[in-house]
Amino acid sequence: MSDEKLNTKEVENLLKSEDLINGFPAATQDISVNIRNRQECIDVANYGPMNPLIGNDEYWQARADVYKTSIEEAKSSRCANCAAFIQTTDMKEAIAQGLGGEEEAYAVVEVANLGYCEIFDFKCAGLRTCDAWVLGGPITDVNISANKFEESQEIALNVINNINLIKGE
Ligand code: SF4
Repeated sequence: MSDEKLNTKEVENLLKSEDLINGFPAATQDISVNIRNRQECIDVANYGPMNPLIGNDEYWQARADVYKTSIEEAKSSRCANCAAFIQTTDMKEAIAQGLGGEEEAYAVVEVANLGYCEIFDFKCAGLRTCDAWVLGGPITDVNISANKFEESQEIALNVINNINLIKGE
């Protein structure tokens, strides 16, 4: 597990940073931005596992250890049900456009269950997770109201601060 920790300012910056390319989040349009931001999530919040379709017992045990719970419960907490996971029609359109906009690009978005992580600003897959997981997602067209969105960001900030406490900052 990484020893790196986020301070409150860094967390706020992560939540506020929203560089745009052609009106879309930069990470959806520029693969180098996406890889950079994803690596940050891997380094500070243990984003993974790389291939969720295989066992990865060590990975899930580490996630369970963070919350002092079972592997089964850890496995139930994924990007797909994280409140920072944005899967609105607009966001899926942005991701597909960034992948080229052809029919196959939309298929990739659906097959990989892709969404956008609002905390770390990158495209993430529904079957993965990280230490900053927030109860209540995903954000969809149904629950995208401004209040709900702001609420989810506040929750995310609190959760990351709690993670830093767990890690001893
Ligand atoms: S914060 Fe949520 S959406 Fe972002 S990588 Fe972690 S679990 Fe996935």
